[in-house]
Amino acid sequence: MAIQSGVKTLRKAGGVCLDLLFPRRCPVCHAPAPPGEDMCPECRERLPLIRTARCRICGKPVRNGEDICQDCGTTPHLFTQGMGVFLYDETMRETMSFFKYKGRREYGEALGTELFRAAGSRLLDWGVRAVLPVPIHASRRRERGYNQSEILAARVAELAGLPLLRKVLLRTGKTPPLKNLNPIERRDALARAMALCGPAPRVPVLLIDDIYTTGATIDAAAGLLGSCGTPEVYFLTVCIGGGFMVQY
Ligand SMILES: [Zn+2]
Ligand SMILES: [Zn+2]
Repeated sequence: MAIQSGVKTLRKAGGVCLDLLFPRRCPVCHAPAPPGEDMCPECRERLPLIRTARCRICGKPVRNGEDICQDCGTTPHLFTQGMGVFLYDETMRETMSFFKYKGRREYGEALGTELFRAAGSRLLDWGVRAVLPVPIHASRRRERGYNQSEILAARVAELAGLPLLRKVLLRTGKTPPLKNLNPIERRDALARAMALCGPAPRVPVLLIDDIYTTGATIDAAAGLLGSCGTPEVYFLTVCIGGGFMVQY
């Protein structure tokens, strides 16, 4: 016990030294985060955590008394259930843009921790047994240096003690133009741009993505997995829009 706590202290001290040499930046204010932390505590308070009533299926904020949102009322989904943790407001828009387009990989680790902090108990309710990132195309990954969903998923899997299946879903094509397509057409177009690489897990799984808008991407991945034998597909995203068919 004493040895174990000693190792933990050493590890923590090592982490603090690393933080001093290469300070992690806070994903909200972009200043160096306090040593040993990945976000300023006061910035964490500013994150737009959704505390209102949510759609029972996709987790979007709904008006009090509503059970499901307008989107879920008109378009049946292929995933089982899920939720986004933060509203996609100005703060999150900037944070996500730094994370995805300005190389702030470490923001994904901080946000992955926030995902687990806000939704860890749901994972137990859902009974998920593995975590899968939504894939991006290899050329985009090369350009960006990483798949943002994989950074988030790795942190959630680590904190939840679940296996991370990075290579089951593959993006084989670029995202097709989706502007003039209805939700079902979007889903089918996205599904054609994805493939399964290896057997589909035969256990309930958790998909992780950065943003949920219409749900077409999650549906495309869930449809592929479901048709190959995965019994239930849940999802968690960092952000979710509040409106009907919001386009970002
Ligand atoms: Zn901060
Ligand atoms: Zn919904």
